[in-house]
Amino acid sequence: VATITLDGKKLASDIKNEIRREIQELGIKPGLAVIVVGDDPASAVYVRNKGKDCHEVGFLHEEIKLPHETTEKELLECVSRIAGRDDIHGLIVQLPLPRHINEHVVLNAIPQHKDVDCFHPTNMGLLFTKKKADIPLIAPPCTAAAVIEILDRYGISMAGKYIVVIGRSNIVGKPLAVMMLDRDATVSICHSKTRDLEKHLIEADIIVAAVGVPKLVKEYMVSPKAVVIDVGINRDADGKLIGDVDYEHLKDKVHAITPVPGGVGPMTRAMLLKNTLKIAKAARK
Ligand code: NDP
Repeated sequence: VATITLDGKKLASDIKNEIRREIQELGIKPGLAVIVVGDDPASAVYVRNKGKDCHEVGFLHEEIKLPHETTEKELLECVSRIAGRDDIHGLIVQLPLPRHINEHVVLNAIPQHKDVDCFHPTNMGLLFTKKKADIPLIAPPCTAAAVIEILDRYGISMAGKYIVVIGRSNIVGKPLAVMMLDRDATVSICHSKTRDLEKHLIEADIIVAAVGVPKLVKEYMVSPKAVVIDVGINRDADGKLIGDVDYEHLKDKVHAITPVPGGVGPMTRAMLLKNTLKIAKAARK
């Protein structure tokens, strides 16, 4: 049986169409603001893409550029000013921040109801206690949500499956594992201190690699039944974008796989739009 390519680019375009239609029907204009401090070149690309995405679906988008020398106090004032605006539903402070600014202090200052990336500890807490919490979490972490959405849209169920997530970051691995547990999967989280990574991977029905090590997941480590989701974004010696999975050698050997680029990346961007829309909808009530 041929391997299924999990086409994140196509799904993201479907989602953007759905969002465009929905905001027209509702007659709303969701707004996303991004605050950037300094001039990190990678951040510039991400921020530009966010602006492009917002423009495509008809969202309000605002980029606030602050110089590298901005103090923590000045940044906090800016966060508070932008967060106070009714036309801005989602607020992002682009990371990394200059070293003299405490990232945690700043992220905690983004009000919980405008935290479109799920960085706020209260939102993270809601995610971890989802089944019991009485306040629902509106905006789950974008990359983790992207992985779930890809599986859902391809009709790949998680219930009862053995899922191995490689990577335990607060942004991707940890929240994703919890979201998959909520879908009744049995989840292992592996990391740099895991012994015999292969032993876990070979048993897995679904593998998610969120590591940042090029081609870590090799053909001999995975079973032919596996669905492989590659979150990794790395550059090879020629500057070409490559994932954490040895795609060339796995692409005909597994049940389904995401390419890099064109897999989780575009879906993460689509989930940011979806989260902004969700917050805008909640704000109307
Ligand atoms: P972090 O660096 O925060 O976490 C990486 C994790 O991988 C850590 O838990 C680390 O273990 C683990 N790890 C490192 N080396 C190994 C190894 N050899 N074997 C097993 N585990 C290992 O990264 P992020 O979670 O932020 O991002 C992961 C990747 O995903 C990166 O390539 C990033 O660029 C990409 N990314 C992509 C996004 C997208 O939209 N597609 C969005 C966000 C991230 P330990 O905890 O022990 O150090």
